[in-house]
Amino acid sequence: VSAAATKRLWVRGGTLVTMDPQQRVLEGDILVENGRIVAIGVIEPERVAEAEQLDATGKAVLPGFIQGHVHLGQALLRGLAEGRELLDWLRERIWPLEAAHDHESAYWSGMLGAADCLLSGTTTIQEIGLVTHMEAIFEAIRDSGLRAIAGKCLMDTGLGVPEALLEDPDVALAESAQLHGRWHGAHDGRITVELCPRFILSCSKTLWEGTAALASRLGIPVHTHLLEHPREEDEVVAVLGRGQMEFLDETGILDTDLRIAHGVQFERRHAEILAGRPLKIAHCPSANLKLGSGIADLGFLRSTPGVSVGLGTDGAPCNNDMDVMEEMRLAALLQSLRQGPGRFSGRDALALATIDGARALGLEHEIGSLELGKAADLVILDLERPATFGPAGVDIHDRIVFAAARDCVCWVIVGGRVLVDHGRLTTFDEDALARRPAEAVRAVLRRSGVQV
Ligand SMILES: [Zn+2]
Repeated sequence: VSAAATKRLWVRGGTLVTMDPQQRVLEGDILVENGRIVAIGVIEPERVAEAEQLDATGKAVLPGFIQGHVHLGQALLRGLAEGRELLDWLRERIWPLEAAHDHESAYWSGMLGAADCLLSGTTTIQEIGLVTHMEAIFEAIRDSGLRAIAGKCLMDTGLGVPEALLEDPDVALAESAQLHGRWHGAHDGRITVELCPRFILSCSKTLWEGTAALASRLGIPVHTHLLEHPREEDEVVAVLGRGQMEFLDETGILDTDLRIAHGVQFERRHAEILAGRPLKIAHCPSANLKLGSGIADLGFLRSTPGVSVGLGTDGAPCNNDMDVMEEMRLAALLQSLRQGPGRFSGRDALALATIDGARALGLEHEIGSLELGKAADLVILDLERPATFGPAGVDIHDRIVFAAARDCVCWVIVGGRVLVDHGRLTTFDEDALARRPAEAVRAVLRRSGVQV
């Protein structure tokens, strides 16, 4: 199968795990034309004439996985910030290392992270990018073939923030608007742009207000980190004299199309401030455990009016990979502990990475399920392995969430374009991918002065 966007692709055979409103699971085919699903189930032979064929017999065909929060710009930094809780992790390692990126290292970090995402079945990401060299992250998204909503990271204040990451709010927002002009809707709409203030401790009130105004002017979303670690709220109260949610409400940000990562500390009082305004949350269980932040209460979040929840891996230095299949399983296991077994099913977890994840990006009409007219973003899994064997009648969502892993990924398709073919990347130069990131991170470490 070729990497080029085929006009017509016939995914033949397979168990279709649709995640549609009826949550249908059926045996059948999918026909893709010009990047969209145009037929599902039994397809008349004349319609598949001259279509490129992909034999999915015996495999599970799913909507591509969606991640509501990642950092491609941190993919080079795996293992360089171990053993720290959130604020020390940022101040001692992540910020100095991010500040040492150049265009080359940012690009190869982006390519490395995109490869990690694709090889574990992710087709769409929401990316909080870098303060500097964001252009390189967009170039990596372009070259990888991923679908992405991404924005330049915004920072203008804060304890422990390196000089190189502190920008004048007007300059930072002007660059965001330029990136919007250049990349929004690019590559058949596969890439879109949003605004990404990092979090409250690194953004002034002026920057938040400017972000809300620019988001409204351009009609684009805002993505940030919120209510992650308990110490974060303590510092915000110490510095600003009020909590994170109270502060954001004064800036107008809660009236934008707001997507947050984490929400671990989200409680009833936050829901009261929100008062039904929409809030999209990317749950990132691995990162929350690794940085000691806690376990989000998905039962409460999902029952709060206006709140929708998806999944994210966050990044390589806090996870330590970008495998969303692992996040699905972990999310389900943690809710089994938190809510009691049976309250949060395998199908609920799969929904986080598919249709609910799409909703948490405002893309539920475009992606997240196998339905006519939607973009042909697919992942095809081989479940005929010892680890994923299941007798007839066993729920396939449970088999996928609790037993399958990234090595089951055979094909990954974005907009009808095959990006992973028999487990191999089609859009990457594999030799370069094996060599360039190692060179790039050596240079980042040298420039940063960080000793590991
Ligand atoms: Zn993050």
